[in-house]
Amino acid sequence: MLLRRITQHVKTQNWFAVGLDFVIVVFGVFMGFQVTEWAAEQNQRARETIYLERLHGEVVQLTQDRLQYTSDVRDNQLALSGAIAVLQNQTDRQILTNDECEAIAESHIYHAPTADLPTIAELLSTGRLDALQANDVRTAITRFNQSALRGGGVIDAVNRNILTLARVFPELIQLETVYVENTPPGIRTAARCDATAMKANPQFMNTFVDNRDRYAHYAVFAVEPTTEKLAILHDALDAELGIVHGVVESE
Ligand SMILES: [Zn+2]
Repeated sequence: MLLRRITQHVKTQNWFAVGLDFVIVVFGVFMGFQVTEWAAEQNQRARETIYLERLHGEVVQLTQDRLQYTSDVRDNQLALSGAIAVLQNQTDRQILTNDECEAIAESHIYHAPTADLPTIAELLSTGRLDALQANDVRTAITRFNQSALRGGGVIDAVNRNILTLARVFPELIQLETVYVENTPPGIRTAARCDATAMKANPQFMNTFVDNRDRYAHYAVFAVEPTTEKLAILHDALDAELGIVHGVVESE
């Protein structure tokens, strides 16, 4: 119909009407593109929100999983510092506490705490991470991934040639199984230490200081940074999704 009208206007040499028809056609095409683009944008936004909501659920769970682990690592760090102070005569105290002795006995354990977020793995494998429009979330994801990767490298390094002190120095550390109720798996390992004999044994002291340095690297460069980056990612997701904890959860 529009074409017939344009043809008629050309025949009658009504150039103003021809120009007007042309503008209408161009505007119509432009609007068509705009609507298509807007619909595609809305679609992508909706899909992105689904991903971010799923990721938020995983981040909340992972934060919970790492909470006790990170807290235990901090406690061990403190106990190892206390043990160093006693064994290197930096304090008047001559006897190790139970926590300090057990921290010495376990100073060779550097587990990799979980850092798995399946939605991030999916975003990476499908190439959708770069397309995320939420800039702060995208940046936080990248930094979390880098931190987890670096942490894995540190854990690999500190686990090389580790020495279990209680096996190498059984005369200085005695281990025993203690039965505990209501705490899986129902047993735990307790340790007894001879601080005076430890101080007099340079081989033990060197090995313990080495273990303690490894533990410090493990805590400071592998565990803490990833936990911090996880908290930053959580904040970015909360801001993007408009989630306020305490208000949402109490509803
Ligand atoms: Zn949240």
